[in-house]
Amino acid sequence: MKRLWLVALILVPLGVVAQKKPSIDQLKKDLKKIEKKKDQAKDQLAEANKDIRDVRSEITKVDSRLEEADDIVEKTGEQLARAQVRQGELGRSLAEAQAQLAAKQSEVRRRLRAMYMRGQETTLSVLLGLANSGDIASRQFILDRIAKRDRKLFEEYIVAKYRIEADKREQDALVANIASMVQTQKSKQDELEKARADKIALMDSLKDRREDIERIVKEFDDDSQKIEDQLNERMRAAQKSGKSSPPVGDGRFGPPASGGSTSRFGMRFHPILKYNRMHNGIDFGGGYGAPVYATADGVVISTSRLGGYGNAIIIEHGRGLSSVYGHLSRIMVSSGATVRRGQRIGSIGSSGLSTGPHLHFEIRQNGRPVNPSSYL
Ligand SMILES: [Zn+2]
Repeated sequence: MKRLWLVALILVPLGVVAQKKPSIDQLKKDLKKIEKKKDQAKDQLAEANKDIRDVRSEITKVDSRLEEADDIVEKTGEQLARAQVRQGELGRSLAEAQAQLAAKQSEVRRRLRAMYMRGQETTLSVLLGLANSGDIASRQFILDRIAKRDRKLFEEYIVAKYRIEADKREQDALVANIASMVQTQKSKQDELEKARADKIALMDSLKDRREDIERIVKEFDDDSQKIEDQLNERMRAAQKSGKSSPPVGDGRFGPPASGGSTSRFGMRFHPILKYNRMHNGIDFGGGYGAPVYATADGVVISTSRLGGYGNAIIIEHGRGLSSVYGHLSRIMVSSGATVRRGQRIGSIGSSGLSTGPHLHFEIRQNGRPVNPSSYL
């Protein structure tokens, strides 16, 4: 499947962290580069997830094929068992008939020899030869000439002979039938084994792909963390140099969007990554383009694309508190601007790692995400 891009993505160094003292412009440029890569990866993740779903459905199909093959093997086994019982029965009746035939044959020989000794016209060899042939007229000729007592014995001999031949044919057919069933069973088992091997291979490939995705996601997280660290460092430097000081608002926080919240803070099943992951904020619905408001008075410290957050705004509110607004379609404030609680700062969108338009909203205390519900 499409694995080359994964390798390519992983191997490309992002470079942003290696710089010791990047300028704000350089930092922003690097951020943009990273975000572009992440957007690509977002598409590729969606693609990979589709592949995973396809593989899962393939596995489901293989499972049902395995069940069918199991059924067939079971049924063939039952047929084989029944055929073997019948074969045993036929074998016994054949042995019995052969014993009867041998007895009758020696009796016929004895009687015919006696006839011959009494001077009958036909020779013993001719008689025995005619008895073995299917020529009814010839047989009638013999029967006309032998005694009534001998005739019955001779007839029994013929009947026994035909019966044994019929039994032998039936047994031969049965054996051939069983051989063919055994062959069928064997090919079903081969099919079963191949299906199992296919399933295992699919599982392995699924596992590899998941590992690839997890590696990429970890890289995203690491990048976001590094970007965040750099932004924090920049802020601290700015504070030290006295260029700006974080404002202290009235301590009140308001809703960042008018729509209701759609996803809470805490562990949740990630809709794109398809596994349980910490959700660092609260999501708000409201539709593409709906207004996003500053949750409290503060200073905008970052307006850029930020990891899986997409277009994001970070506002500092003083006392170690800041708020983050992610997946925006539009940013209406610039870095360094002072904002008031309830002021419109942008629009809801679906940038970054997002499945549809929503606002991802975080409150951070000393850089670490806390549950925004405690503030709203
Ligand atoms: Zn969110």
